[in-house]
Amino acid sequence: MGTSTAAFHATVAHWIAGRHTAGASGRAQPVYQPATGAVAREVVLGGVEDVNAAVAAAQAAFPAWADTPPIRRARVLFKFLELLHQHRDTLAEMITAEHGKVYSDAQGEVTRGIEIVEFACGIPQLLKGDYTEQVSTGIDNWTLRQPLGVVAGITPFNFPCMVPCWMFPVALACGNSFVLKPSERDPSPSIFMAELLQQAGLPDGVFNVVQGDKVAVDALLAHPQVKALSFVGSTPIAQYIYETGAHHGKRVQALGGAKNHMVVMPDADLDQAVDALIGAAYGSAGERCMAISVAVLVGEVADQIVPRLAERTRQLKIKNGMEPDAEMGPIVTKQALQRIEAYIAEGVREGAHLVVDGRGHTVSGHEHGFWLGGTLFDHVTPSMRIYREEIFGPVLCCVRVRDFAEAVALVNAHEYGNGVACFTRDGHVAREFARRIEVGMVGINVPIPVPMAWHGFGGWKRSLFGDMHAYGEEGVRFYTRQKSVMQRWPQNTPQGAQFVMPTAH
Ligand code: NAD
Repeated sequence: MGTSTAAFHATVAHWIAGRHTAGASGRAQPVYQPATGAVAREVVLGGVEDVNAAVAAAQAAFPAWADTPPIRRARVLFKFLELLHQHRDTLAEMITAEHGKVYSDAQGEVTRGIEIVEFACGIPQLLKGDYTEQVSTGIDNWTLRQPLGVVAGITPFNFPCMVPCWMFPVALACGNSFVLKPSERDPSPSIFMAELLQQAGLPDGVFNVVQGDKVAVDALLAHPQVKALSFVGSTPIAQYIYETGAHHGKRVQALGGAKNHMVVMPDADLDQAVDALIGAAYGSAGERCMAISVAVLVGEVADQIVPRLAERTRQLKIKNGMEPDAEMGPIVTKQALQRIEAYIAEGVREGAHLVVDGRGHTVSGHEHGFWLGGTLFDHVTPSMRIYREEIFGPVLCCVRVRDFAEAVALVNAHEYGNGVACFTRDGHVAREFARRIEVGMVGINVPIPVPMAWHGFGGWKRSLFGDMHAYGEEGVRFYTRQKSVMQRWPQNTPQGAQFVMPTAH
């Protein structure tokens, strides 16, 4: 396990032009340790002046970084990769401390972030353009991709290392400079990664971090030198970012919330399906945008599976995420805990059958932590709020349907379309499911189908606003713009003025 205590800062500051800075706003707020409920440190909250300073640093650093050959940019990322491996456990410890998720899960998060850096190290290959010789007599045409300038990322609390890594490694590899506005709930990993980037040899100003809330986000949205914004968070804010960013003429990708279904067909391997539902519903306390929050139980499978889910839900090992056998940690904040508890009460009021009630869970020695047990509802119907809305906690809703067609129609009618899974042993059903389902990321007997670094991540419908998915080749396209060059080197034979639309000759 890492020995990271020294890596934490008592006050988590901004990182601008390669230095920690407390900024000009004078605002700050506490950062909690959710397992104990104690205030662990504080984070400064940036204002317009801080955003202006970060964008100015990024703008100043951009021309030289954009001019740096891609292979030399990649070498900085290779060094960063080495440092991430070296400090993986420190980062994981920071995540568990501020987010609450269990340590092994936090290590997995860092690994998924590392994979994007590995992908970005291949940027010389990814930036190769297209070339056509002789598009007309004596004329060649090629396309190339150039960086945009200063780009910004706004990230959620639930993956304080991985989600920033969906953005900045690709953006930097493409030659942009970057301003990150991480979540104010767990800000330490972002600052630690900034320090590692500097150690890796990234020139000061190419990567900056502004801590903060809506004030900092709005300043980034309005800043004329910010050319593109990547956002990951809840749907109402994603829509706001998309609309406001577009209003200011920026390129925007805004990934939003989710309500991920897992369809269990009667022919599925039920042991595997139960394991998958328990892990995907309660892992990270359900605070994953790819968590399964709805089990769609087809036909007779419901009566077989619900009692088994109930038994396993009651047995979950819920404790401080640093305990080696912990399966689920606390909820991120007291407010989030209260919001989830209110949803459970609403589900009961709406008439859903509460099979396992996680409210009132306590952990001895951690009496002030933000605890909630795994919660299981059966007989949930599509009109209920607990079905329609994202709860973002350890609450699994079982919906019973008659057949496959009803399952597909149910999933397709939901406003969210981030992830989905189908458990079956029938190849035809699997194929039909993958083809017909209106969701961006599909798992067949895979409960959490988060695409690998080179495939790109993104939902459909109200789970993503914008045209391009995060990372992968879509990420490279998002962080670059295409230029087409047409070139002729005429010999000494004047052709005279041409007044017709040029065509190949
Ligand atoms: P959030 O929307 O509250 O916050 C996300 C970011 O937006 C934070 O940096 C926050 O400071 C900022 N923000 C919050 N309110 C704002 C406002 N009014 N104006 C401008 N900026 C604002 O989300 P969260 O609670 O941190 O994260 C959980 C949400 O993120 C869930 O809805 C989850 O599904 C979603 N999420 C989606 C994905 C995905 O890939 N689709 C991945 C991870 C998380």
